[in-house]
Amino acid sequence: MSESRKVVIIGSGPAGLTAAIYAARANLDPLVFEGSQPGGQLMITTDVENYPGFPDGIMGPEIMDLFRAQAHRFGAETRFEHVTKVDFSSRPIKVWVENQLTLADAVIISTGATARLIGLESETRLMGHGVSACATCDGFFFKDKEVIVVGGGDSAMEEANFMTKFASKVTVVHRRDQFRASKIMQDRIFNNSKVDVRWNATVAELLGDPQNGGLKAVVLKDTLNGDLEEIPIDGLFVAIGHSPNTELFNGQLALDKKGYIITEGKTTRTSIPGVFACGDVQDSVYRQAVTAAGTGSMAAIDVERFLESQD
Ligand code: NAP
Repeated sequence: MSESRKVVIIGSGPAGLTAAIYAARANLDPLVFEGSQPGGQLMITTDVENYPGFPDGIMGPEIMDLFRAQAHRFGAETRFEHVTKVDFSSRPIKVWVENQLTLADAVIISTGATARLIGLESETRLMGHGVSACATCDGFFFKDKEVIVVGGGDSAMEEANFMTKFASKVTVVHRRDQFRASKIMQDRIFNNSKVDVRWNATVAELLGDPQNGGLKAVVLKDTLNGDLEEIPIDGLFVAIGHSPNTELFNGQLALDKKGYIITEGKTTRTSIPGVFACGDVQDSVYRQAVTAAGTGSMAAIDVERFLESQD
């Protein structure tokens, strides 16, 4: 038993649902498999204040409900299902959810990326309540507060530097005694009087109650002697890298060395005709909801042109 669709969209963050809005309005009858985190990364964000059109800000889950409602308004079908297998080697393209097969003339991949987390239960519980994985999104809420940035790569340097625009003090906590970040990014940190570095330390625990003021303190563990130290803190930014969600496509599409899908020039075309990619799964640089939505519209337009050329 299989069904046939003109367009299947895999993933339902700002990129996938924008692609769905555009594809539905182009009468392409898109089917969206929402995946394991319907709505994408904004579902774990609280206030979104930088998405144009919402001058008073909007909650992450609320804006994603609006994206979905807009896609439904034009007839897009969305399913809370997780794609388990794809076959891009022949046409039509095959997409499976367990043993249910969908045949597609074109596929848009918008499976996003996942911020790497430290892995503490308290980190998940306090996410959006003092803990964040995105300074650009949440930095504004930490005016004149003291924050920690965890990590030693370019992202951590960038986030720490960015946070000095708001915070009164930023401490970079790194598990070794040297950064892996590029020299120029390190120099910015070392030359910024608002930034301190705590070498050889990991975050062992986060203290606070999401219902009662959020994060209050962090317990750092010295990686050399194992000593624990509790430090009062207002915010903690985890900046230990992102991983693109491309496991499903390994060996079927050209990926770069970090695992992101390679798209052609200024288009959303991948290495396989009829397969397009948009949003964070193909963007390790900007990673914003608004840029993801932008590439989502591009993917739907690219699909429309591709299908016309096939006719
Ligand atoms: P990254 O280079 O992989 O660095 C991750 C950092 O997090 C490393 O310092 C690593 O420590 C640390 N880390 C990893 N897992 C950890 C854990 N469980 N607990 C504590 N620390 C942990 O990632 P990134 O900084 O996001 O950069 C990704 C790529 O994007 C890089 O190629 C980078 O150059 C690029 N980027 C460029 C810019 C820019 O040029 N403006 C800005 C951002 C990112 P170790 O060092 O000990 O492994």
